[in-house]
Amino acid sequence: DLDPIAGSIREQARAALTESAVAVFVVDARAGVRPGDEELADLLRRSKIPIVVVANKVDRVEDAPFAAEFHRLGLGEPMPVSAAQGLGTGDLLDRVVELLPPPGEGPEEDEDATIRLAIIGRPNVGKSTFVNRVLGEDRVIVSDIAGTTRDAIALPLEVDGRKLVLVDTAGIRRQSKLTDSVEYYTVLRSQRAVERADVALVICDARDGVTAQDLRIAELAMQEGCATLLALNKWDLAPLTEDDLDHERAKVTRKLRLRPKVMTISAQGGRNVTRVLAEAITLGDRRRERIPTPGLNRFLAEAIDARQPPAKQGHRLKLLYMAQIETRPPRFALQVNNRNRVTRDYMYYLENRMRARFGLDGVPVIIDVRERKDRHSEK
Ligand code: GDP
Repeated sequence: DLDPIAGSIREQARAALTESAVAVFVVDARAGVRPGDEELADLLRRSKIPIVVVANKVDRVEDAPFAAEFHRLGLGEPMPVSAAQGLGTGDLLDRVVELLPPPGEGPEEDEDATIRLAIIGRPNVGKSTFVNRVLGEDRVIVSDIAGTTRDAIALPLEVDGRKLVLVDTAGIRRQSKLTDSVEYYTVLRSQRAVERADVALVICDARDGVTAQDLRIAELAMQEGCATLLALNKWDLAPLTEDDLDHERAKVTRKLRLRPKVMTISAQGGRNVTRVLAEAITLGDRRRERIPTPGLNRFLAEAIDARQPPAKQGHRLKLLYMAQIETRPPRFALQVNNRNRVTRDYMYYLENRMRARFGLDGVPVIIDVRERKDRHSEK
């Protein structure tokens, strides 16, 4: 039949393309080129990644010519395979491996500034209202193909020229009627989203303040390495005083070691929605930033000046040198004279000072303490 493919299939393909290095386009060799194939081929031709056309159901060697028909999709030489018989699959794998970018390159690496944002939170706090509000903003450009908004697992956007992908907005729409399972699904859904995100925006209800469950959700995000930000939504219904807000912020700082920021929004009215987005982008940038070594060591010297490192049995801990060894999230190596003198307290102090100094509120920071094996270092 001539029915165009369902929108949902197109959306799925689009979403998958935003996250992939290579696409394998499977067609039915026995059915020949179908209108749906052409439509998908169109979409694939416009993507920047390499495509392998796989003509499946070529169960016998003499069926191989059927595959040739798919040349006209304009995506290169089709590879005949039989998934059922396992024919041609080895060659296909080789081809895919050939096309994959070498490790350490490709869109995964630093030059790709796309920020993957998960909007998470309890049911009814206003997640979908927020997403829809974002999509309605003038400065936000949604993907060029219509109808990709609602149920996409990954929704690409541009905000003031910056690329953003909203992760897993699908689950957010559906709501369970079973109150028993609400907590379960909230956590499960949040988990799925944050695993794939760089930044997590935890939406809370201003009328309830930041609840224990909100804190758990934020914790989950930070454990997965997301830079995290909290937004108290429905501000129009609960305009808290400065004191109230301070109280909420103090609670968050007390309970969450990574000290995420707390902002106020009204998803419905649009208040602060773009500010929160901008903050999310900043957080994403900080999470992938590399702090130059000289700056880090100046920071280290100042931190030591401001608070002397601990001593054990008269021997003081010396912090010798610091360098960033990874990003996303940032990871640092700290060289010390003696690891046994390191205290948890002092590490908290350093970490918090780093957050304040380098704008890392809500950003996971890992500090590996390494002992310098050096005969000059004091025993
Ligand atoms: P979700 O379950 O987190 O996706 O929450 P929804 O986006 O479905 O919102 C739940 C309810 O809160 C809906 O009735 C929204 O209209 C309402 N809501 C969301 N944001 C706001 C807001 O900023 N102000 C007000 N007054 N209501 C809001």
